[in-house]
Amino acid sequence: HLRDSGLDVKTGIAYTGVLGVLKGGKPGPVVAVRADMDALPVTEDTDLPFRSTVRTVYNDIDVGVMHACGHDIHTSVQLGVVSVLSSIKKQLPGTVMFIFQPAEEGPPPGEKGGADLMLEEGLFDELKPEAVFGLHSHSGLESGELGFTVGPAMAAVDHFYITVKGKQSHGAYPHKSVDPIVMASEVVTAFQTIRSRTLSPLEPSVVTVGIIRGGERFNIIPAEVYMEGTVRTYNTAVQDQVEQRMREILGGITSAYVGSYELKYNRGTPATINDPELAEKMLPTLRRVIGDDKVKMMDPVMGGEDFAYFANEVPGFYYRLGVVKPGTVSGWVHTPTFRADDSCLETGIRAMSNLLVDFLESGGM
Ligand SMILES: [Zn+2]
Ligand SMILES: [Zn+2]
Repeated sequence: HLRDSGLDVKTGIAYTGVLGVLKGGKPGPVVAVRADMDALPVTEDTDLPFRSTVRTVYNDIDVGVMHACGHDIHTSVQLGVVSVLSSIKKQLPGTVMFIFQPAEEGPPPGEKGGADLMLEEGLFDELKPEAVFGLHSHSGLESGELGFTVGPAMAAVDHFYITVKGKQSHGAYPHKSVDPIVMASEVVTAFQTIRSRTLSPLEPSVVTVGIIRGGERFNIIPAEVYMEGTVRTYNTAVQDQVEQRMREILGGITSAYVGSYELKYNRGTPATINDPELAEKMLPTLRRVIGDDKVKMMDPVMGGEDFAYFANEVPGFYYRLGVVKPGTVSGWVHTPTFRADDSCLETGIRAMSNLLVDFLESGGM
């Protein structure tokens, strides 16, 4: 579709990423727009005629594959925008970079991928945009509605891996053990005080242990307990403080019980900050195209988005596309009952096409 529409196309960026460049007939700035195009190991539970029936093996488990984050909508919208803008190519004052990005949800374990790998492979080297736009499906908004946040919009995403180490023993002889289950339980509880007692109540933060795994049998105290979780923050100083408190808590509790620990703390996607100047510049366009009352201001959330890597390179504006058909219900993103109604495509295409044209016509940043 990109080639048929007269774009210069580059494929194979960050494995399966694609860049399509549309050069307008008139001189002007360069702007970028990004759609993500991956799916999730979720088994779709909707009655849609086009629901996914695909299955695969993920982490050794047989799972369904579902567009449970609406990335198929983002890709469809962007292909629609390609059609619209290529049809007015001659009048277009500038250049549009259409980025189709894989692995937004994260690359397979041990691999690199996503927005940062596309940049590492030189996405912005030949042609650097003055601004980047993106949108995301939102199951809290109806088709025909858009949401936006000025400034901080989505949190930094960290991933931690912990092994609490003790000494194995018979469950009836606990005095012969160093019990990692008792230590891990105290660690999980104490982690809750990082948010409630270390950080300011006004500072957005999340510390979540999502996996806790230990033991094979009811009458054996195991040697180790394994935990994994996520930390979400908006501020690097707070991020440092959370990691430091986690080490102090792990060290204090395990040494009190004569055990030990290992912590691997990986900093992932940075916070997504919508450039305030760019947001203010573009909001009138959204209001004009979609309708004043349909464009809703939204609070920042603790979810993450690797669009942040692009928005760290150049001013970025990332907004929400309502996907719920009025009168129907949808599950939240990442759940089996998430349903994005096709009626949102038109709103998405109109909003994004107009943003890009208005940005180019304004002469850029
Ligand atoms: Zn997602
Ligand atoms: Zn998503």
